Amino acid sequence: MFERAILVHYHEIGLKGRNRAHFENVLKRNIRAAVGGLTAHETRRIASRLLVRLSDPERREDVIARVTALPGVSYVADAFVTARDLKDMGRAAILSMEEAGEWDSFRVEARRSNTDFPVSSNQINVEVGQRLVDEFGRRVDLTRPEATCFIEVVQGDAYVYSRRVDGPGGLPVGTAGKVVALLSAGIDSPVATWRMGRRGAVVVGLHFSGAPVTDDASIHRAYRIGGILERSQIVGRIYAVPFGEIQREVSLEAPADLRVLIYRRLMIRIGEAIAVRERAGALVTGESLGQVASQTLENIAAVDAVATMPLLRPLIGDDKQDIIREAQRIGTYETSIMPGDDCCTLFMPRTPATRATVEQLDDGEAGLDVERMVRDALESLTHRDFECPAYRSPPRRKRRDAGSENGRDVLDGGV
Ligand code: ATP
Ligand code: MG
Repeated sequence: MFERAILVHYHEIGLKGRNRAHFENVLKRNIRAAVGGLTAHETRRIASRLLVRLSDPERREDVIARVTALPGVSYVADAFVTARDLKDMGRAAILSMEEAGEWDSFRVEARRSNTDFPVSSNQINVEVGQRLVDEFGRRVDLTRPEATCFIEVVQGDAYVYSRRVDGPGGLPVGTAGKVVALLSAGIDSPVATWRMGRRGAVVVGLHFSGAPVTDDASIHRAYRIGGILERSQIVGRIYAVPFGEIQREVSLEAPADLRVLIYRRLMIRIGEAIAVRERAGALVTGESLGQVASQTLENIAAVDAVATMPLLRPLIGDDKQDIIREAQRIGTYETSIMPGDDCCTLFMPRTPATRATVEQLDDGEAGLDVERMVRDALESLTHRDFECPAYRSPPRRKRRDAGSENGRDVLDGGV
């Protein structure tokens, strides 16, 4: 019986010097958190891969599913651990090819990370290949094999496998800073959130509900999206802001055709205030050029004028069809199309402006106490936390209120 292990491969490009050790440590931590509780295990680095040893081989599929959900993972190999001995490798090769499904032709692909093993990769290929021909009576095909037996020889051990499962690639969450994503629970913003996480950012979601004018259904959808992305450890926390009252005020004061853009500018300001507290470096939206009236170049510029930090739009050049496919792939689509209004459908004008200017929006906002609105929003925040080893919540700030002994938490007025 051979021990089983999962070998985690990651992209090595761009990972030079100190950067690389950091990347590996973050990925190792994320993997440990993902598989913790499944089976006693050990995760350590060997020759530019991470090795997850399994004490309970029955849990292999669970471990593979969890690890391949993590950004930074290029693919994992479902391996047999053997001694650095050709006979052992041959026996493990037979077992691994029995797991390779239906195949008629095969090849062996050996790699040595250490040249202290006296047998060359080519010799391993020939000898183990012969062993497999003897066992299965099938043909070798070096150019288009139906199955491949991989053998990786590293310090101390060898790993033999025929099965690879792809991960999402990208960078481990926690290697690219923190962002605040405006998360509507529509189709686009969960995909934008996923894209940022795949590039290594830890994401704090910010959802605006129509409460108290509407019910809380959209908040629960946003939290559900957080739960789906939790498998990839992307979202640390989602804040929810009841936005209905603010929208009502805007609708009374501002010209109807500019309302949507003024809502959006308020969202950006509230997002920035939260980003400052969270020590996040940018805001993210799910906008895509020309998709709806608020997403023309002119309107984007007029909204951006109030932002002081970078406003990232990972989907700006994507077609809706592609975004939908991606939402289906990452598993958020079904939740995004569930019925239930967020604040977007409240107080919507019949004909929104498609070419607003900064001046028009400034004028449109002139009668509003924008600062108070932002303050109100921050006071009425609630949030939910998600499993995300990269996330650090902001320090809780205390404010002394008149008559209050202990002061009160001002980060978050809710639970
Ligand atoms: P989505 O599918 O992400 O809702 P959309 O195509 O419906 O996008 P808009 O409604 O114009 O487009 O919203 C553009 C972006 O503004 C969203 O992608 C999101 O980042 C942000 N946004 C809109 N509504 C909300 C909301 N209720 N809460 C948080 N962010 C929002
Ligand atoms: Mg929307």
